[in-house]
Amino acid sequence: MTFDFTIIGGGIAGISAAARLAPFGKTLVLESEFALAYHASGRSAALFEPFYGAQSVNDLSLAGEDYFRTAHGGVLSKRGIMIVARAGEEAQLKTEAASFHMDHITVPEAVEIIPILDQSKLTQAALSFNAEDIDTDLLIQNFARDARASGAEIRTNAPVTTISKTASGWAITCGTDQIETKIIINAAGAWADEIAKLAGITPVGLTPFRRSMARIPAPNDLDVSKWPMLFGVGENWYAKPDAGQLLVSPADEDATTPHDAYADDLILAEGIDRYSQVVTTEVTRITANWAGLRTFAPDRTLVIGPDAADPTFFWSAGQGGYGFQTSPGASQLLADLVTGKPSELPQSTLDALNPRRF
Ligand SMILES: Cc1cc2nc3c(=O)[nH]c(=O)nc-3n(C[C@H](O)[C@H](O)[C@H](O)COP(=O)(O)OP(=O)(O)OC[C@H]3O[C@@H](n4cnc5c(N)ncnc54)[C@H](O)[C@@H]3O)c2cc1C
Repeated sequence: MTFDFTIIGGGIAGISAAARLAPFGKTLVLESEFALAYHASGRSAALFEPFYGAQSVNDLSLAGEDYFRTAHGGVLSKRGIMIVARAGEEAQLKTEAASFHMDHITVPEAVEIIPILDQSKLTQAALSFNAEDIDTDLLIQNFARDARASGAEIRTNAPVTTISKTASGWAITCGTDQIETKIIINAAGAWADEIAKLAGITPVGLTPFRRSMARIPAPNDLDVSKWPMLFGVGENWYAKPDAGQLLVSPADEDATTPHDAYADDLILAEGIDRYSQVVTTEVTRITANWAGLRTFAPDRTLVIGPDAADPTFFWSAGQGGYGFQTSPGASQLLADLVTGKPSELPQSTLDALNPRRF
């Protein structure tokens, strides 16, 4: 059978692309792992913060806001973010608060909201309620259900091992299967440059960066569920309520190669130390830890669109730290570009995301 669209990668990028493309042609998703969202998409902080990242990233995030709020009853819930500064960090806090459209609050006000904050260690704070939690599992299920309802086939345990050009498109080897497809969508996350190389396409220069997470019990058994996500200045650690506990991340960004990422104990300890310096409670136990890869293009902007050398090879890569919050906007743009429909995004945004920029 010949497919119109074969999507390589069953993370949020691939599944959202499948939901958008399946109404327009025979669509196949190939995911090498036993389940969808096994890699980066199963390890995120699940935040929607529309002012995080470059302008083009903000544009994609905001373009998907309506989908987030309304599709299948919506997947967002109230969260907010707070940044706290120590002596000497005030100027940087001011810059960051401006870029995230935050209000400055006093330290006692911050402590009222997050009672474990150590007033004696902090000089300033800023707060915003623009950021919301994304139910990432539900989002993926919704996109997968929509894709299947439009006839898409989603295969797991399906690693792509060879890709070659044919007269009518591409031939893909996946296990013992030979697949013919007119168009390839490269949504392979940290492996997207590897997939390009398999297809004889020039890589765009993606780098996976590891980010680690520790889950700790709720400090003093407090109800943390309504706390905003808490950041150190310069995003050098963060803490986020998660299922009655707290996630603490060192916000590490260590360049690595595509692999099944795991947390480094020392890096986790350093992050927990940075968090511990501004709170009055001690971390005595970690209940779980993990790491994931945030894969960035050199300019830290997503790569969405046809390859410069081959218009039948589309990129949906470089999602970095924004793959969930950009997914409705990015998948809509991808589908518009594949089907030749004009995008509602400004031309400057399309140019910023275009693979041809490399
Ligand atoms: C700790 C952490 C916190 C984050 N927090 C947030 C956040 O708060 N908000 C937000 O929006 N984003 C966040 N992100 C980023 C977000 O998780 C990623 O941008 C997003 O998950 C990337 O999705 P993806 O589909 O591109 O990649 P992936 O989920 O990695 O999917 C790519 C898939 O391709 C498959 N694949 C690779 N090679 C092959 C092959 N040869 N054949 C078949 N399949 C193949 C892989 O198995 C993988 O499943 C965070 C990431 C991390 C790690």
